[in-house]
Amino acid sequence: MGAPGSGKGTQAEKLMDEYNCRQISTGVLLREAIESGSELGQEVQKIMSEGLLVSDGIVLDLIKYELSKIGENSFLLDGYPRNISQAKSLDDLLSNLNKPLDYTILIDVPSEILIKRLSGRRTCSLTGKTLNIYFSSETEIDECLSKGGELLQREDDNEQSITKRIEVYGQQTEPMIDYYKSAGLLETIDGHGSVNDVYGRLKKLMEL
Ligand code: AMP
Repeated sequence: MGAPGSGKGTQAEKLMDEYNCRQISTGVLLREAIESGSELGQEVQKIMSEGLLVSDGIVLDLIKYELSKIGENSFLLDGYPRNISQAKSLDDLLSNLNKPLDYTILIDVPSEILIKRLSGRRTCSLTGKTLNIYFSSETEIDECLSKGGELLQREDDNEQSITKRIEVYGQQTEPMIDYYKSAGLLETIDGHGSVNDVYGRLKKLMEL
């Protein structure tokens, strides 16, 4: 868990590349639903573009479906749960599946850098890799553009939605910190610095 722009998705992508583990990201699943033009996509598009949370029932159904396909594989949840009610549903779901959470990792980032990270965030149209026009190296950006790729911006990475998402995080998601702390499951890493700096801290934690 972490605020919007804390690097959850980016770090999850790197972990998935290195460890044999599946990333289940509700944000990615919802964006795929929007792109496909499905009924679900049409239902959530406006809510997401405004930076609000979609209903707990919708994301729970998505997670149930994804976990039903997971078999014996290990998995990492990215962006789920996002409030206490979702955290409780997840506890029930995982206890029924006999796959309790190992731990919850909070990526802690000073709020002043979140806005710059979110407003500069782009995705390479060819590889799906997350880049940032302020922080990615020229080589990384060129790697996408020189092959004919485009740098795409997420619909909800506009100023109004960014402000709302940070507010929603503080009101609804941050209370989960105490929830997981009380359960003895919370590990916090410093999310300040480059993608590789943060990944180094994450790997150290995973190895422990
Ligand atoms: P993310 O890709 O994690 O930044 O999520 C993008 C948007 O998807 C959020 O701002 C929400 O509108 C929606 N979303 C993602 N995960 C959840 C969730 N667990 N509960 C409710 N809404 C979610």
